[in-house]
Amino acid sequence: MFNANNAASRERAVYSLVIPIFNEEAVLPLLIRRITMLLDTLDADAEAIFVDDGSSDTSVIYLRGMVAQEPRFKLIELSRNFGHQIAISAGMDAAAGEAVIVMDADLQDPPEVVLELIAKWKEGYEIVYARRIKREGETLFKRATASLFYRFMEKMTSVAIPRDVGDFRLVGRKALETFKRMPERDRFVRGMFGWMGFKQTAVPFERPARAAGETKYPFWKMLRLAVHGIVSFSEKPLRIALWGGLAISGMAACLGIFAVFAWLFDAGVVHGWASTVVIVSFFSGINLFMTGVIGLYVGGIHAEVKRRPLYVIDRLTGFEETIAAHAGRLSEEAARAVNEQRKFG
Ligand code: UDP
Ligand code: MG
Repeated sequence: MFNANNAASRERAVYSLVIPIFNEEAVLPLLIRRITMLLDTLDADAEAIFVDDGSSDTSVIYLRGMVAQEPRFKLIELSRNFGHQIAISAGMDAAAGEAVIVMDADLQDPPEVVLELIAKWKEGYEIVYARRIKREGETLFKRATASLFYRFMEKMTSVAIPRDVGDFRLVGRKALETFKRMPERDRFVRGMFGWMGFKQTAVPFERPARAAGETKYPFWKMLRLAVHGIVSFSEKPLRIALWGGLAISGMAACLGIFAVFAWLFDAGVVHGWASTVVIVSFFSGINLFMTGVIGLYVGGIHAEVKRRPLYVIDRLTGFEETIAAHAGRLSEEAARAVNEQRKFG
């Protein structure tokens, strides 16, 4: 097998673009044009893997047509909407390149920046992420929540998760193979790459507005991603629960002592019911919240122990050559789907 460290091998590199698609019919024609231009500009063979994440619009039909015409295009159709992070994982599992670039479908991750990512990879960086230095066309609310999220992540986790970095990045073979060996169900992809180390660097870019269509990340989905990110990369919420619980018990003990003294020196005190109600509801609130925090972790464990596959592939198009050329490199999941298609299709 080929050594990705070897400078000569980097010269004949094969690039894989991984693009998750969820109801992107409005932007697809433009995306295809830009991706084709990018593939033509690259200095080596390249493939573009589109991962349809259970779109309910015409995206899949359009993509099937494109993949039939262009041998460098490949399509993975997931059996339902598994979410952005898992769609990315499915695409990376199937990527055959020596360098894999993940980018959004809406052209907010400009194809030109890919050339800069590749240049850094050629300098020897294993992971090159694109850092947003400016965001256009996004609401103040989205920018504010995103900025709050990155700062909060920094405080809550011990893993270096770079700030203002999304999922637009290039990873080399070593990082990719490491990623594939990370079996967790709860995927916070940018944290996983932060965790693994290797030589990493950033390329700054200005993030333009979505080329067409609407965001597929409404507020609640962002919140869910943030909670997943924190729970899967930090035990701090549990520690906060522990110390918070201890502090509150200490306060309760003081109150108990106070109550004994009040009883000793002035039996029959009845005033103070308001504070009792406040204290009782405050503590029950804290209790419920902490149980919820623990529940998040227990739920995470539950999802892991079931050991279900991360995603289910409904159909693969355009992978036949890759399979012949890179036997054994496809994930078991992808290989199984192809074999089944061969049997029945
Ligand atoms: N996406 C996906 N599955 C989802 C949601 C989004 O594959 O459940 C894809 C989407 O098609 C796009 C990328 O993830 O390619 C980023 O989504 P979007 O641009 O809507 O997010 P935003 O840039 O608004 O944060
Ligand atoms: Mg976007």
